[in-house]
Amino acid sequence: MCIFCKIVNKEIPASIVYEDEKVLVFKDINPQAPVHMLAIPKEHVSGIAEIKDASIVGYLFEIMNKLAREKGLTGSGYRIVVNNGRDAGQAVDHLHFHLLGGRPMQWPPG
Ligand code: 5GP
Ligand code: ZN
Repeated sequence: MCIFCKIVNKEIPASIVYEDEKVLVFKDINPQAPVHMLAIPKEHVSGIAEIKDASIVGYLFEIMNKLAREKGLTGSGYRIVVNNGRDAGQAVDHLHFHLLGGRPMQWPPG
């Protein structure tokens, strides 16, 4: 079982920010910004190509929007990132959206 499935199953601890029957949002263990959360479907999906029901993506955006608002990021801005595959730096093969905010960020990424 992958590490994020273990977090879903509460086999390993995480700092959970939001949870319902479909999705889990928790703090990144190695935060790259003052706010750095990971939003995931509870069902194991390894990457973008493996998404079977795309409605989960819209739902995750709804939840991330709500959390960004709650954290006060909607005025200053924030970034949502998916690293998909090896060249993009995907380290955990369970689809996840990084929600980063609380500091200015550069573009383009390295
Ligand atoms: P990726 O490079 O796959 O897009 O991002 C994986 C992210 O998961 C990294 O930012 C990393 O810090 C985070 N991460 C890896 N293992 C754990 C863990 O056990 N707990 C938490 N909370 N985050 C993790
Ligand atoms: Zn998984």
